[in-house]
Amino acid sequence: MATMTTIEDALSGELEIDLGAIVANWHTVRNRHGADIAGVVKADGYGLGAAPVALALAGAGCRHFFVAQFSEGLALRRAIGPGPMIAVLGGFPPGADEGAGLTPVLNTPQDVAAWAAAPRQNAGVILHLDTGMERLGLSPAERAALPPGVLDSAGLRYVMTHLACADEQDNPLTALQARRFAEAADAFPDTPRSLANSAGIFHGLTSDLGRPGCAVYGINPTPWLPNPMRQVMRLTVPVIQTRSVPAGTPVGYGATWIAKRDSQIATIAAGYADGYLRSLSSRGVGIIAGSLAPLAGRVSMDLITLDVTDIPNVQIGDRVELIGPQQTPDAVAALAGTIGYEVLTSLGSRYRRRYIGAA
Ligand SMILES: *Cc1c(COP(=O)(O)O)cnc(C)c1O
Repeated sequence: MATMTTIEDALSGELEIDLGAIVANWHTVRNRHGADIAGVVKADGYGLGAAPVALALAGAGCRHFFVAQFSEGLALRRAIGPGPMIAVLGGFPPGADEGAGLTPVLNTPQDVAAWAAAPRQNAGVILHLDTGMERLGLSPAERAALPPGVLDSAGLRYVMTHLACADEQDNPLTALQARRFAEAADAFPDTPRSLANSAGIFHGLTSDLGRPGCAVYGINPTPWLPNPMRQVMRLTVPVIQTRSVPAGTPVGYGATWIAKRDSQIATIAAGYADGYLRSLSSRGVGIIAGSLAPLAGRVSMDLITLDVTDIPNVQIGDRVELIGPQQTPDAVAALAGTIGYEVLTSLGSRYRRRYIGAA
């Protein structure tokens, strides 16, 4: 049994997730915010595991969590037990949570009416006020039309808004949204406020409850400055075959990459089905023992081919870092034409996940 595990492990991709670094990042963001912050663990904790991340954050004192969908909320409640608030950004109908104690985010006047008419919930509700994202939340006119005190009986816990452009250095919409939110929230003078995502917090926008996601997972919340966050993950994938090809040989689907010289090709055991984006074909890089190995040709579903000609003696079983401290999710995203969030949330389910740094 032990031997079988070893053989399997040697030939599969491994995703190492440093919960200690995640907790350290959460503390960094909280210090920066100067007030309480939640843990945003939607999309399975940005691809890194909602349950282990939330348990680590809860151990560090986090009492409020946000997920996107109802099913995520139910699963998270099972994982972390009673106590912390679990808010569902996409909302859900009154009574649906069957005792899980989830907190819906009310995004429409219809949501507000339904919850105001429902029996009081211990988990309360959050009211989302749109201030310029035009995606979810009550418009200013819809907010102004609410009957005074309409949500008192539902247990209004927070009013919130969400920033559209805080990841830009000085987009004027950020300050405008903060002003609009302050005005709209004045209609709820006794209700705590929740304003900023990671980037908003690094712009100095504060409220009773910040909602950082990306920064906690090591994505740069200030793309115009060096990344103040610690890296939290490392994806390594084993070499499962090596071959020598003479100059002029095409490699991979579509024969898009042609050896310019006699070359060494290493094939590794991950592909786009594992979330390594196909747009990284002939653009991405693997790192083998500190040396760079460019992708040779297309990313396949389950395999990637690397040009290892300049790296002596690459062997079957050698591990290649595809994403990690030497090549961050932000850096991979830049090569792929996307954002670090998509790189993380695309991480596939076939990797062996290893959590380190837990308390
Ligand atoms: C995802 C999300 C966040 C976290 O945003 P980051 O940019 O990852 O910090 C906060 N609030 C809402 C409403 C979100 O959807």
